[in-house]
Amino acid sequence: RWPVPPAVQPVLAALAAAGHDSYLVGGAVRDIVLGRLPHDLDVATSARPEEVKRLFDHTIDTGIRHGTVAVGTKDGWIEVTTFRSDGPYLDGRRPQYVVFEGCLESDLARRDFTMNAMALTMNGELLDPFGGLRDLQRGRLACVGDPQRRFREDGLRLMRALRFAVTYDLDLAPSTQTALWQVCDAIRPVAKERIGQELLRLLEGPWHRRIDLLATCPLWQAIGGPLAVLSTAIEAVGKRLRKARVDAVPPTGLAALALWYAMVDDGPEHVYQAALKFALGRRHALWLRAAATLMQRLLRDPNQAWSVEELFAADPEVARAAARACAWLFADTPDVVRGAWRAIEEQPLWSLADLAVSGRELQALGAEGREIGRLLQDLSQAVLAREVANEREVLLARADRELARLRAER
Ligand code: ATP
Ligand code: MG
Repeated sequence: RWPVPPAVQPVLAALAAAGHDSYLVGGAVRDIVLGRLPHDLDVATSARPEEVKRLFDHTIDTGIRHGTVAVGTKDGWIEVTTFRSDGPYLDGRRPQYVVFEGCLESDLARRDFTMNAMALTMNGELLDPFGGLRDLQRGRLACVGDPQRRFREDGLRLMRALRFAVTYDLDLAPSTQTALWQVCDAIRPVAKERIGQELLRLLEGPWHRRIDLLATCPLWQAIGGPLAVLSTAIEAVGKRLRKARVDAVPPTGLAALALWYAMVDDGPEHVYQAALKFALGRRHALWLRAAATLMQRLLRDPNQAWSVEELFAADPEVARAAARACAWLFADTPDVVRGAWRAIEEQPLWSLADLAVSGRELQALGAEGREIGRLLQDLSQAVLAREVANEREVLLARADRELARLRAER
């Protein structure tokens, strides 16, 4: 018997008391079986949405068309969905319609992977018609049913396959892997932002353990655009890893993405374009470009630490993330890592805004119009070159002299 999260017990009990079948399903069951903490709780039931709404005091129609009602409990919201089977898939992403005449088995059959197609009863009994537990025990990810058909129905499952393989450190079952290779064009109709979201979630996992899968799978080329270079990029990370024999935990998230792109020509520009195209947001796009730029420079010329100008073009948070990511790849050459951290620590100035005098103060000194920009430029360069300290009195004195010189020139 498996532990049923206390939050969901009263919901299952109330549905049972009203004469309905109900089960905990989906990702939560997978996580419980793996001994992980489930993050959202989904219930599947024979009760229709109207009946669910009648049975519970606090409900929200979160996806009534798909038969989903959120039920509020003192431990948070639980999504309760009527047993569903999917109508035909015509657009390569979503079923044309869903029907609510089903049973648990048909509800589980429409789910993507065997490990996501298990159910738990109120008593902690596992119902697993597709062998999800066995697949997990063998460390593999397998589609429910015919993998080619399932990927063609909904191309997002291709990205989900990579994401789950990474997150749960699983091999793809042979037929699932073959299908992924054969029907990767099914990714075409999938919305760019959904691809972007799955990519970000994949990057949160121990991706270094699945680097061969990520480097060889043809999905990046099939998606195309700025993701097409990822095969080359990830392959290069793999090569470097084997050489450095790193076994520490790698960077994750945006830092990992920047690191991948740092491995290829024009990587900083590609990652910037990728972030915009796959809806990661402009702020993230700028962050990624700056981080990839720093990483790429260090990867190409490891014996030369970042210059003050290179760091001035970034910001401390980006630089630290770049240093951490590079530290992982340069585990075999600690001097490179030390040099990078020292450059960050000793950086005399990170931006014009950090200068100890402001444009307004220069104005008070008598500078006007373009002179202000020229002075700020001169002062920041002098601080970066370590000719002067970033201190107000020192800078004002220098500005005074420089202003006189500028005017004498004219
Ligand atoms: P996580 O929440 O950790 O991403 P999850 O498995 O809960 O994992 P969700 O996207 O929350 O994933 O979906 C809940 C369940 O719905 C899945 O476990 C799966 O059974 C089913 N599911 C979700 N997306 C699909 C899909 N594209 N095709 C088929 N079934 C899906
Ligand atoms: Mg979930």
